[in-house]
Amino acid sequence: MLSCMTSEPEHRHGAGVPDAFQRLWTPHRMAYVQGENKPTGPGAGDGCPFCAIPAESDEDGLVINRGEHVYAVLNLYPYNSGHLMVVPYRHVADYTELDAAETLELAELTKRAMAALRNASGAHGFNIGMNQGAVAGAGIAAHLHQHVVPRWGGDVNFMPVVGHTKVLPQLLADTRKLLADAWPR
Ligand SMILES: [Zn+2]
Repeated sequence: MLSCMTSEPEHRHGAGVPDAFQRLWTPHRMAYVQGENKPTGPGAGDGCPFCAIPAESDEDGLVINRGEHVYAVLNLYPYNSGHLMVVPYRHVADYTELDAAETLELAELTKRAMAALRNASGAHGFNIGMNQGAVAGAGIAAHLHQHVVPRWGGDVNFMPVVGHTKVLPQLLADTRKLLADAWPR
């Protein structure tokens, strides 16, 4: 079903090959952290980054907005500039485990994230969704997270395009502030 979200050809990184499906949903690219930064186990005490982030400052954690049950945070390895995630505070793996209040706020923050991205960057479209389970490509399978990936025609926008695996801390810090300022009140 995900193929319908990524059917348009892309030509972003020079090859000119319409491999958007591969590019967007391969596990390594959607992972929040990679390699040695991954959790050591499925529990909340096993180094889960999504459990640790809320204790950090907005700036250090790249947190864009904090709700009562759910928060929004930039992805360290973005598919596109502005790629963020909406994450419950509670360490929950499966979408069916969310309670009603978490489900509602996850949906509400997803809508506000779209509005913020439109306000800040004029995003033309979005890919929104969750990878449920490692087999489906979830980088941190033990703690669910909803990806919100802004899309532009040709994926050219006012923010410099981020390389697939490079992390540019200053760019991420600037992007976080832009989106936090553009977040609907
Ligand atoms: Zn967690």
